[in-house]
Amino acid sequence: MSQIQTGLLVLFLTFLGVVGYNVYLNETTPEEISYTDFMEQLQKGEIKTVHLRGGSVKGEDSINRSFSSYIPDVASIMPLLKEKSVLITAEKDSESMGGFLKSMLPVLLILGGYLIFSRMQQAGKSGFGKSKSSSFLPSSDTGLTFEDVAGISEARTELVEIVESLKHPEKFSKLGGYIPKGVLLQGPPGTGKTLLAKAIAGEASVPFYSIGGSDFVEMFVGVGASRVRELFTEAKKNSPCIIFIDEIDAIGGKRSGGNATGSDEREQTLNALLVEMDGFDSNETVIIIAATNRPDILDPALLRPGRFDRQVTITLPDVKGRRKILEVHAKKIVMASGVNLSEIARSIPGFSGAEIANLVNEAALMAARHNKTAVDLQDFEEAKDKISLGLERKSAVIDEKVRRVTAYHEAGHAITATLLEETDPVHKITIIPRGRALGLTQQLPLDDRYTYSREYLVNRIKILMAGRAAEEIVFGHQTTGASNDILSATEIASRLVCEFGMSQVIGPVAYMQEQGGFLGGGSAAKAYSEKTAENIDNEIKRLIEQCYRETKELLSENNKFLHKLAEALLVNETVDAEEMDIVHHCYINEKNIEKKLLNKQREE
Ligand code: ADP
Ligand code: ZN
Repeated sequence: MSQIQTGLLVLFLTFLGVVGYNVYLNETTPEEISYTDFMEQLQKGEIKTVHLRGGSVKGEDSINRSFSSYIPDVASIMPLLKEKSVLITAEKDSESMGGFLKSMLPVLLILGGYLIFSRMQQAGKSGFGKSKSSSFLPSSDTGLTFEDVAGISEARTELVEIVESLKHPEKFSKLGGYIPKGVLLQGPPGTGKTLLAKAIAGEASVPFYSIGGSDFVEMFVGVGASRVRELFTEAKKNSPCIIFIDEIDAIGGKRSGGNATGSDEREQTLNALLVEMDGFDSNETVIIIAATNRPDILDPALLRPGRFDRQVTITLPDVKGRRKILEVHAKKIVMASGVNLSEIARSIPGFSGAEIANLVNEAALMAARHNKTAVDLQDFEEAKDKISLGLERKSAVIDEKVRRVTAYHEAGHAITATLLEETDPVHKITIIPRGRALGLTQQLPLDDRYTYSREYLVNRIKILMAGRAAEEIVFGHQTTGASNDILSATEIASRLVCEFGMSQVIGPVAYMQEQGGFLGGGSAAKAYSEKTAENIDNEIKRLIEQCYRETKELLSENNKFLHKLAEALLVNETVDAEEMDIVHHCYINEKNIEKKLLNKQREE
């Protein structure tokens, strides 16, 4: 049975319940008589039976008419009842609550029925008694601009083009250009995805339709899909405009073949969305912006060309970003002069934009509590403590020790990549957590490579092992943070040995690896004996161990560089190629000066 049918059935039963209960009551409801009448009939001996419960009395008179009444003082009439030999039954008063509930039952049923019905109406006006006005009202101008969204410069440049296409759709279509249709904003909660979508609408001054993905899922079957169609029809009428779908993963998760009960509805809604997105005319400029913090679970169908083919990743802000976000929100409150926002920004690693907005708000509340006229640093400190205590459970605040280890780990990768020849240059290093990674060192190849030299591959292994090597050198212990690196290093090493024939010990022979290191081409490779397998394993191990040893040596020799870069990371959280260059040059200069001093000392 579909959910609509269930809903209707509930409604029908509710109706029946109300009617039936009333009939029942009418049949048995005794005539209500006054205490005076009751006493009079009792005196006359016209009462045959009474049933007492607390002060209320029900009974029958001599001609079997039932009545009910209330007796203020039951004890006082007991002698009279006995005198007139009335049959008395009685029950405990505590049941009166049940009686109350019983009498409330119709009311409760009506209320319940009403709630269900109104939810259905809310959920899908199209499904239940069409309402005249549309249920989708755009906010005509969000009034927000990119100025309101701070610290996301990378994402911003990508979105300017979308604003342009909304503002001047004719410019794009005239050139036969392709107007972006779907934009997927992905990033952790509270990083300003909604804010950014609104800012795009504001910048382009177009209507903004907003709906949450989970809104669809709570609906009854079929309603979500028709809601989607209704939304798009409405939006197309007001083109150009923006449709914002928050938490798209609620409907856009991978389709599973419909085993769970809720997935039926979800799938229909998702299909309706895909159909709508594919069915645009070129003259309809409707841009769909979706937000998610779980891009990994999205149905790949959503990401196909012509759908959400633009993906913008928004990360947690680094210290500069946090400073900018603080500035945006500090403008809304009265700040005491001389509050150093950079200092505050440095003290809140791991805070999202939403958490920063909350911090500013809490600080203002603290100041108000202390009857201050402006918000000062102390208010921020108190607010931070208050929030951090609440946040600890969410682990949004990164442990200082973990930060340090991560900084050295990433610095290890980056320095090794910089010091070795034949590698890709370092693009960016960060200790801002992303997904499950605590930090990241990004290298960008200078050009598209088609072949790799042995040296390049060996250096890649070294760079991968450098994270752990740096941890060992500085802290003397190992962490699990390097497990992914080791996995990648092992993969490269085994391909180097088995696939590329680059090991002197094994020789230029291709061996098939069981774990499928060969993509499809495995059939041409040689099957091998257990002895060879052992040799291969040993060779891979030897290669990695040698790389690790050499990397550790390299880092030890350059440990001042390591410390310098790690410090820069701890302060700034991200270090780009240019800043990396500066740190590198500082290090080289210092080393040269040291050398000269040393030489001088020797000469003297
Ligand atoms: P998301 O949609 O990513 O969960 P929101 O856009 O709902 O996050 O952000 C919630 C609030 O946090 C915003 O209304 C804003 O006050 C604040 N905020 C988040 N990111 C930023 C930012 N980059 N700049 C300014 N304020 C931000
Ligand atoms: Zn690493």
